Amino acid sequence: MSTDLEVVAAEAATCVRCGLAETRTQVVFGVGDPHADLLFVGEGPGAEEDRLGQPFVGRSGQLLDQLVLEEMGLTRDGFYIANVVKCRPPDNRDPRPDEIEACRPWLEQQLALVAPRVVVTVGNFATRTLLQTKEGITKLRGRSYPYGSAVLVPTFHPAAVLRGGAQPMAQMRADLVRAKQALQAPALSPVTDAAPGPGPSGPEPPAPDVRLFD
Ligand code: SF4
Repeated sequence: MSTDLEVVAAEAATCVRCGLAETRTQVVFGVGDPHADLLFVGEGPGAEEDRLGQPFVGRSGQLLDQLVLEEMGLTRDGFYIANVVKCRPPDNRDPRPDEIEACRPWLEQQLALVAPRVVVTVGNFATRTLLQTKEGITKLRGRSYPYGSAVLVPTFHPAAVLRGGAQPMAQMRADLVRAKQALQAPALSPVTDAAPGPGPSGPEPPAPDVRLFD
């Protein structure tokens, strides 16, 4: 018998709510444990994701998998992962606001059905969409936010980490440790700053912002 999430995925597979339907190979809905406590939200499918039908399967995805394993001890069967837009923007351009808005109901259904305790937003588009802000990821990361009955932890997109080197890598590791602490904490408890876990990250560079819920 199909899960509710599979039913929604089947509906989304034929979605034509925005212009990205015209150029996609297939809808990349999401993968992972449909009842996971941890849900990652990325930006949109790239070429490999569009070809294979799964989110985060290129170099960025490999780095994300590596960091999640090293800092949180989890593999893909231990979380759910989806994107803000489910169809690949042509030439890997940024998703447009109208496309994000058109696709938002699919993401909201995923969030409602998976009902994670911790949501990690990966990069600017996911973080801005879920926190409903125009602020950038560099300012928004470094703390946790209440998100309904869940906790939202923003972090960099692994593609930016691949370009950016040691500092964003260390910061992303620290964000993932923060997410791990949020998973272990009672619901909606404030999550204090996290020291990077074992691995080659070293200490996180100092961040100026507060790291508790407002
Ligand atoms: S990006 Fe989202 S809203 Fe647009 S066609 Fe694809 S599934 Fe539908």
